[in-house]
Amino acid sequence: MSKINILTQDIISKVAAGEVVERPASVVKELIENSLDAGARNIRIDVEDAGLKIIKVSDDGEGMSYEDLRLSFLPHATSKLAFVEDLASIRTLGFRGEALASICAVSKFRIRSRSLTSDFGHELTLLHGEVVSEEKKAMLPGTTVTVSSLFFNVPARSKFLKSSATEYSQILKLVSAQALANPTVGWEFYRDGKIVFQIRSDMPLDKRIRILLGADLLSNLLAIQFTSEHLSLTGFISKPQAGEFSKDTQYLFVNNRHVNSPLVSDAVKAAYGSLLEDRRFPPFILYLSVRPDLVDVNVHPRKEHVSFWNDATVHEFIAGSVKECLSKYDLTYKTSAENADALHDSASAHTFYALKDLVKPWNVKGISEEPFSEIVQIGETYLVSPIKQGFLVVDQHAAHESILFEEYTAGFLTERSRNEKLILKDPLVVSIPLADAEIVKDSLPVFFHIGFDVEGFGGGTFKISGVPKLLQDHDLNSLFKEVIADLKSFGKLRTFDDRSKRTIEFLACRGAIKAGEKLSFEERRNLLTKLATSKGLYTCPHGRPVSVVMSLHDLDRLFKRI
Ligand code: ADP
Ligand code: MG
Repeated sequence: MSKINILTQDIISKVAAGEVVERPASVVKELIENSLDAGARNIRIDVEDAGLKIIKVSDDGEGMSYEDLRLSFLPHATSKLAFVEDLASIRTLGFRGEALASICAVSKFRIRSRSLTSDFGHELTLLHGEVVSEEKKAMLPGTTVTVSSLFFNVPARSKFLKSSATEYSQILKLVSAQALANPTVGWEFYRDGKIVFQIRSDMPLDKRIRILLGADLLSNLLAIQFTSEHLSLTGFISKPQAGEFSKDTQYLFVNNRHVNSPLVSDAVKAAYGSLLEDRRFPPFILYLSVRPDLVDVNVHPRKEHVSFWNDATVHEFIAGSVKECLSKYDLTYKTSAENADALHDSASAHTFYALKDLVKPWNVKGISEEPFSEIVQIGETYLVSPIKQGFLVVDQHAAHESILFEEYTAGFLTERSRNEKLILKDPLVVSIPLADAEIVKDSLPVFFHIGFDVEGFGGGTFKISGVPKLLQDHDLNSLFKEVIADLKSFGKLRTFDDRSKRTIEFLACRGAIKAGEKLSFEERRNLLTKLATSKGLYTCPHGRPVSVVMSLHDLDRLFKRI
């Protein structure tokens, strides 16, 4: 007996459906995309039981004639592609002609539609992909699709669904993304019969963001707009303070299609540099327009990714635009002044930030002339000093780390160490795994310019005969190994500059005064004076703030004098 079977059409369509219809949110996505492709101005979405019981999407788009309606749910039925060349420049959201076919293979399905030129519509009810009833319907032009009992005939699929809270939040995230991607379309979203949000078609983007993503995020957004030969970018990036621990609030729309792009996400993150800690991600809402023939939207079964004609060009354009945008804004901010409803927000809103890489001048005028005659150390961690404008609070570790970082970098850039060196009487011999020796060899010039004398002995053995004085109290053997481990854990450090920066950051952190160290008055004053005269140090190399200024004006506001 032969072991190969030709699959029946029923199995084929269920297998195909698995690719398109992964979860309730995928159904919502496909139906909304169809409505948008039909030119809808208003779209209403209803879900019950996180979409498993009912998903209903209604639109006021161009609708379908009876003939088209009868074809719409057949596999590979589409009005959007006719010739193979069309694939190279797709302007619609759909094009494969498989969404409706896939959805109706795994649900109880009803579709009704009236075209703009017809006086009435038709409604078809399908089961297992077959029409079981049809009738004429009095209705407004447009289309309504109702998907009930999703996955009722594919129990295997239901097993892979997450909790209904998770499935629902996926749907909500998706609808929100669509409402941002299409800022001239009106949206209504209902859950179990209750309204979740309503956005009229004329509601501007900032109001949409407030409703969908919250006022806090809105008050932290910076508008961005850049155009190059093939690309144009608009939308919003966020102030560094808004950095999050996930990429959940990163919205990218490529030619109005909501997609995930690790490339773009990475480029944006790179532009923030040390303004953001490594594990934080900046929220963004970005609209990227690309000539349709320069972007391939046909690379993912659910069209969640795209590929660009040239990744490097896109990366450079995004990173460059974001960096320039950040440099244009004064990132020292007082949320309360900008945003009246954030008045309750006190100290945290006054965090003193700016783009260290751009060496902006210190924003509080005359601070470098301050005598710093009174400096209190609080919790053996923070230095507080009255200044003309109010008072300054400095994180002693972050401040010292930034100063060292700047000094080490300067030493590195001028190829000569400015740091005092300690020549070891007995040179230290360190051995490391051979596989790591390459990392050290690549970093030897960095070590040298920071004040280390390191020499390779062949294989994984190195001789250290001099170290920066600041590091003399450390266990040098393990410090050396930690630097290597740190460089290794950052697999992405491809270039020499990346590695150098990382090494310098690490050593600056290690060499700096720790939180919890008691400082003499002289040490406190030295630190603040150095900080005030340095080139504008607002964040430490890890992106945490170094200092906070609370002005008299802020105090007046805090105590409700004004
Ligand atoms: P695709 O969107 O890839 O063409 P679908 O299976 O999603 O494939 O839809 C098949 C066809 O049905 C579409 O090409 C379109 O002509 C028609 N259609 C589907 N939904 C709508 C709608 N909401 N309004 C008008 N036409 C629709
Ligand atoms: Mg479609």
